[in-house]
Amino acid sequence: MSDEAFDRFPEKEEAGIPLSPSSSSSVSVTSPMRKASAGDKGMAGSTAVIVDLETTKVDFTELPPQKLLCPDCGRVYRDPQLFSCCKARSSCRTCIQGLKEAEGACPSCGESSWESEADGETQRNVNELYVRCLHVSDGCLWFGHLEHLPRHIERGNKSGCVFIKLPCPHDCGEKQPRKFLEDHAKNKCPNRPYKCEYCKEAEGTYKEVSTVHFPTCPRFPLPCPNKCPEGPIPRSSYENHIKNSCKYQDSLPCPLAAIGCTAKMRRDKIPIHLEKGVASHMTLLAESIIKGKQELESKLESLPPPQTVVAPPPTPPPQPLNTDEIDAHFEELLKSKDDEIFKLKRDLAQLAREKDRETRELQTALDKAQRTLEMQEKRLSLAEQLSHTLTRDLGILRQFIPSPLPLTFTINKVSQLCQSDKWWYSRPFYSHVEGYKFGMFVFCNGVLDGKGTHMSVFLYLVRGEYDDNLDWPFRGNVTIQLLNQRSDRQHYQKVIRFTDDTPTAVCNRVVDAEMAKEGNGPTQFISQGDLTYNSEKDTEFIRDDCLKIRVASVSLKTAAPRTPAPGGGANTGTLSRNLPKDSLLIHAQSQSVDSNGDSLTSPVAKSPSCRTSSTTPVENGHSS
Ligand SMILES: [Zn+2]
Ligand SMILES: [Zn+2]
Ligand SMILES: [Zn+2]
Ligand SMILES: [Zn+2]
Ligand SMILES: [Zn+2]
Ligand SMILES: [Zn+2]
Ligand SMILES: [Zn+2]
Repeated sequence: MSDEAFDRFPEKEEAGIPLSPSSSSSVSVTSPMRKASAGDKGMAGSTAVIVDLETTKVDFTELPPQKLLCPDCGRVYRDPQLFSCCKARSSCRTCIQGLKEAEGACPSCGESSWESEADGETQRNVNELYVRCLHVSDGCLWFGHLEHLPRHIERGNKSGCVFIKLPCPHDCGEKQPRKFLEDHAKNKCPNRPYKCEYCKEAEGTYKEVSTVHFPTCPRFPLPCPNKCPEGPIPRSSYENHIKNSCKYQDSLPCPLAAIGCTAKMRRDKIPIHLEKGVASHMTLLAESIIKGKQELESKLESLPPPQTVVAPPPTPPPQPLNTDEIDAHFEELLKSKDDEIFKLKRDLAQLAREKDRETRELQTALDKAQRTLEMQEKRLSLAEQLSHTLTRDLGILRQFIPSPLPLTFTINKVSQLCQSDKWWYSRPFYSHVEGYKFGMFVFCNGVLDGKGTHMSVFLYLVRGEYDDNLDWPFRGNVTIQLLNQRSDRQHYQKVIRFTDDTPTAVCNRVVDAEMAKEGNGPTQFISQGDLTYNSEKDTEFIRDDCLKIRVASVSLKTAAPRTPAPGGGANTGTLSRNLPKDSLLIHAQSQSVDSNGDSLTSPVAKSPSCRTSSTTPVENGHSS
């Protein structure tokens, strides 16, 4: 939007200056609005003429009718004046003045002496001509009677033309169309009042805050030098971001540098490095464990061996002295020989020295015992330290043991299985590392209410290596999936639940057999019709006569205290009533041997319909 566009409507002092181009229908008019605008309501207290249409090109919406055009100048009447002689015609005020000055006769009746008067009716018709806004080329869509145009383009009229340029209220010196003035004053003007949007503390004009405060604002956003997706970082956390969290920070050492890994990488590549470098890290870890162990051992060796404490011999109690005798003897000796006194004194001193020595020996023995004790404590603490280190290393190593699930089994020769009562069973598997052990049985032709129409799937608890450390009875959900072999989506799945209502024979720990006596699962796992290719769902569960069945996950639930069912857990007749509609209990009745040679109890449905058929196990499946 150029300045020219807005200046097309002249300021008052510019009136009279020729105006910019007009459209084909533009006609210059005199100012018929003097009366209309001066008398308008809501004129912001001003009665001044706002616009002199004598010099303004107005854009009429339609070509004005012939009767509103002055016969002298051919333009729309400007302040039309009527010839009073015949009242047959009018002319613009300027046109009629020209005729009068030339003393010309009335062009209509030829009268040479004539007067003129304002032609009110023609003026009213002119006032009602439709015009467009002067700012139409800027996009203003307003149009209305000519007499309403001044009000529309009046600066003081808040509901007037939004394309009039107005000065910024913050005195920044800028002029903006009314339409953009608010946005300018609120969001763009450098002089607008502004509170720092980042710390919400510093205040002033935008110019002041942005030039003085921004360079030190603690919350001011700085771009990450690594161009990481976290985007601009507040100044106060910038250092921490680079040091500790920027995903794109490069040349960082491997977190396992302590065990000797020298790799350097970008922060976001660390998880990948750890995942892909399991083997090399384990080698480094093993080396560092061995080294640490050797160091501890050499420290232990350098300590003096433990010593046995030898108790000193008991000191005999000192003989009581007969003082009377001594006194008598002493007096006698005093009287006789001085050297004997000296001898006695010497003996006494000797006695005192011996007692001193004994005390010292006892002290030394005690000190020695104390030192031995301290030494043994030190050895003990070093041994504990070694044990702690090894336990921790074992924990680290255990993290690298992959979870046993999900586990996918392939069932071959499905067409044969579907036409017989043979079943397929999986090799036993664990729910978690050191978790519960299960076996899975699949009857492609179904049993009980699924027989001939559905596929049935059952899970059996198997005696496991870690049962001692687990909670019993087993409570949890096992998710079984049938894989769609057309694509890796639309897999079919069902959850087999072991709840407080599950009979104990199904979920109790297996102690006196290889496998639980009863299994748990849906007799109607999936309808046989749904196994084949379904073009609508784009599913196909049997391909090349194979089914792929996956134990997707096992989630554990804490067992609630449970009172044993009357008659023992094997009473399926009672307990099966508590089961969900499509669940079934199956009794183990015969023994079979799987392909690995392990003895496994195979299930035979207790239902009469199943018992009569000669069920035989087929070859064991293998995980893929
Ligand atoms: Zn006349
Ligand atoms: Zn005229
Ligand atoms: Zn307008
Ligand atoms: Zn401004
Ligand atoms: Zn700030
Ligand atoms: Zn960053
Ligand atoms: Zn590494």
